[in-house]
Amino acid sequence: MSSLQRIVIVGASLAGLRAAETLRAEGFEGSITVVGDEPHLPYDRPPLSKQVLRGEWDAERVALPAARNEALDLTWEVGVAATGLDQAARTVALADGRQLPYDGLVIASGAAPRHLPGTEHLDRVHALRTIDDALAVRRRLEAGVGRVLVVGAGFIGAVVAASCREAGVEVTMVEPLPAPLARVLGPEMGGVVADLHRDHGVDLRVETGVEAVVEGPEPGSPLHVTLTDEQVVEADVVVVGIGVIPNTGWLHSCGLLIEDGVLCDATTLAAPGIVACGDVARWPNTLFDEVMRVEHWEHALDMGAHAARRLLAGDGPGEPFTPVPFFWSDQYDRKIQLAGRVRPTDQIEVVAGSIADRRFCALYGREGRVVGALTMNMPAKVIRYRRQISEGLRWDDALAAAAEPPAPPAR
Ligand code: FAD
Ligand code: NAP
Repeated sequence: MSSLQRIVIVGASLAGLRAAETLRAEGFEGSITVVGDEPHLPYDRPPLSKQVLRGEWDAERVALPAARNEALDLTWEVGVAATGLDQAARTVALADGRQLPYDGLVIASGAAPRHLPGTEHLDRVHALRTIDDALAVRRRLEAGVGRVLVVGAGFIGAVVAASCREAGVEVTMVEPLPAPLARVLGPEMGGVVADLHRDHGVDLRVETGVEAVVEGPEPGSPLHVTLTDEQVVEADVVVVGIGVIPNTGWLHSCGLLIEDGVLCDATTLAAPGIVACGDVARWPNTLFDEVMRVEHWEHALDMGAHAARRLLAGDGPGEPFTPVPFFWSDQYDRKIQLAGRVRPTDQIEVVAGSIADRRFCALYGREGRVVGALTMNMPAKVIRYRRQISEGLRWDDALAAAAEPPAPPAR
């Protein structure tokens, strides 16, 4: 075990909490202080855009149970931001003027939503990142709004559109790319998601953006949203999901490499005694030969655990962090899951099920290798392909195996 006595974790959410749990599971007995700028103990974000938004769950239900586990013996500093890092003194500065000394630091400060320029003064234009954001949008829906405009058809936009349609609200969704999730899934599979939304009654406007949002003339009258194609849409509330920016402002001029996130080595180490994990961290994933930052739930858990072990390894070389990234997205009655790292230019082959049934598995290939597996309502397949991708599955082998008739059941 290393000589660390005091570990500070900045970011009281999924990655930071998993790092704390892992430190204890690995036998670390020193102090762990978790700093979070939100006034809450860690909670889970995926239900915010679904069960919380639709009014099915209250705020209590999203609490992450480990945050209340007293056996972990964590010291919580929530409702206070970290404002600076002094690597030489080994201290983290807090917004209330205190300095927290550390021997080991976990950076898990996540990411924050981009704002739609020119709408900062409009209280009916919402982001959706925190429990407070979700409750604010839910109050609007409960007040009986008729029309929601969703800006951005990425992860947030697609799931908010689905939740609002399920709540019986009219939805217009605006996206500059040719299809929802196109940057993540490519245009062809993005088109499948577009059809899913249109069939559920979403007025989907692609290849256009938002030019301006203005209040109507009377109090409470609809917002007038002018699109870049000069169309005007009326809406009672606007939900914006146009991407996130990693929370690295508090690390200004501290000497760490900040490049769209905290740049780490292949083992998640950002500097001696400092690791980073989750949405805020960028690192070279040698499995894909790519420096990446991943903004998904399971990744925050896996990297939080890996970073904690790396910190405890001290001056040792540490293990490289080589996951096959994974996400799921629940939209209507469809579960979309992707394992891998895909690009719009990858070749794509549907190897099971059919797009017409919206139940299928598609593989993405590049340079003779399978680099991704996308499933819609075929969860077992994505798990299997995820493992095979980590083992270097060849494109030709995958297609040949998929073409074989299924083995007869064992007698
Ligand atoms: P975060 O959860 O962003 O937590 C970072 C924390 O650090 C925040 O509380 C932040 O306020 C705090 N912080 C920031 N700066 C400071 C500072 N200076 N001092 C102190 N604290 C600071 N992923 C999926 O795979 N599937 C899903 O279905 C899915 N649904 C989602 C739905 C929503 C609405 C959202 C917002 C995200 C969803 N995600 C989903 C993504 C997933 O939740 C994130 O990838 C995950 O939360 C990242 O965890 P994190 O701990 O790295 O960062
Ligand atoms: P996102 O998935 O990056 O999608 C943002 C979308 O908005 C992109 O298609 C983007 O297009 C588009 N866009 C950018 N600027 C725009 C503008 N001015 N007007 C209209 N559209 C614009 O980000 P997100 O949906 O906001 O999600 C936020 C975070 O939550 C991400 O980290 C995401 O991974 C996470 N999240 C994940 C899940 C999941 O894994 N299932 C679910 C919910 C949220 P360009 O790409 O061309 O910029």
